[in-house]
Amino acid sequence: MSYTQSPPLTKKEIEDFCSSAKVIRICTHNEDGTIHAVPVWFNYKNGHFIIKTPEKTLKVRNLMRDNRLTLLLDKEIPPGKGVIIYGTAEVEFEEEEIKEGTTYKEGLELLEKYMSKEEAEKTFAGFRALTDWVTITVIPERVVSYDFAKDDKHWNAVAYTQFVLYTRPDRITDEEVIFHIEKKICLVCKKEILKFTYVCPECEIFYCMNCSQALANLENVCWVCNTPIDESKSSKPFEIEKYEKKMKKSKKS
Ligand SMILES: [Zn+2]
Ligand SMILES: [Zn+2]
Repeated sequence: MSYTQSPPLTKKEIEDFCSSAKVIRICTHNEDGTIHAVPVWFNYKNGHFIIKTPEKTLKVRNLMRDNRLTLLLDKEIPPGKGVIIYGTAEVEFEEEEIKEGTTYKEGLELLEKYMSKEEAEKTFAGFRALTDWVTITVIPERVVSYDFAKDDKHWNAVAYTQFVLYTRPDRITDEEVIFHIEKKICLVCKKEILKFTYVCPECEIFYCMNCSQALANLENVCWVCNTPIDESKSSKPFEIEKYEKKMKKSKKS
């Protein structure tokens, strides 16, 4: 069976992701052939990634020897998405740069992404007193991306797993409904809802993200009140046997 990569992000989605992400993982080549990977703060400007780091770090030593690198931007909460950037880095040491006055401006700009202007100025002064810094400018050469939210095969597999594990009860009592709403528990998987959630607009019952996606992809109705989850799609009762047959067929092709 072949496994295909999830669909990519569009150019605009990549730009938005690069502009809004807080942390990027920078991967450089160690001398022994292993990869050095660390999360860093960064600024995204005119298609380049600006990273500030202490001069005496392994990533700087690695880049001075081999300026090729990989950056990874990813999203931890499902549905996952990511951008992998292959490129080269230019490393600028502080002294040369201070003359041009860019270190100060760029350093502040980067910090202001994470804190107020006033805090940035104080933090910057503190950092500067601590050690010498370098500016790493990453010039992307090749960009690869993936977005699980666009991947129907992925969601079908998630949906299938949910529905094999959890089947709709014949009857849900009012007490059960109240219990699930009060405790913020997903009606399908019974797990506590932490972050993302779907609340039925009709009966106000909670579904966790996986279960609401699964419901929307399959029977597409609220288990309590039969209100459609995704109004743009049709609603139909879910039949596991039919679904298994369909899965087997798509596995062969
Ligand atoms: Zn759930
Ligand atoms: Zn409902």
